Amino acid sequence: MLKWIQQFFKTFLLIELLKGMAVTGRHLFLPKLTIQYPEQHTPMSPRFRGLHAQRRYENGEERCIACKLCEAACPALAIHIESAQREDGTRRTTRYDIDLTKCIFCGYCEEACPVDAIVETHIFAYHGEKRGDLYYTKEMLLAVGDQYEAEIARNKAADAKYR
Ligand code: SF4
Ligand code: SF4
Repeated sequence: MLKWIQQFFKTFLLIELLKGMAVTGRHLFLPKLTIQYPEQHTPMSPRFRGLHAQRRYENGEERCIACKLCEAACPALAIHIESAQREDGTRRTTRYDIDLTKCIFCGYCEEACPVDAIVETHIFAYHGEKRGDLYYTKEMLLAVGDQYEAEIARNKAADAKYR
């Protein structure tokens, strides 16, 4: 009953509205900050989930072992994998596609991967002019990984102590 009365007076006296106006008032005279994007950027967490990449080991061998855990974990069914055994007896993907028009950037694929092969990079400024442009093939994902490996490794190391 007491809670109901409190709630009634809060609503009747527009307390929530006044609280909101107080926040606006506090910020009204603070110095304004404008980020000159794309020349300037705001700080970004090492956990930011942007464009995907496939990584290689230092010797150039691709990390992915075609276990398909990422495909199973993906709630959006955005990953498609086909695999085959190589002459040396190891298994690798023959096809690894991510449909970024389906992807919800949840990061489950990265979490599921036992060898840190599939990762999400800091890259958010990319686009496609037609639907097919956002269908990333294995070659495209490896190319992203090759280009940004130093940064990916740095972000992984920064986040390692929290895992
Ligand atoms: S980030 Fe989420 S939705 Fe996107 S491919 Fe990975 S698991 Fe699927
Ligand atoms: S990216 Fe990782 S989880 Fe996905 S198939 Fe390759 S090794 Fe397995």
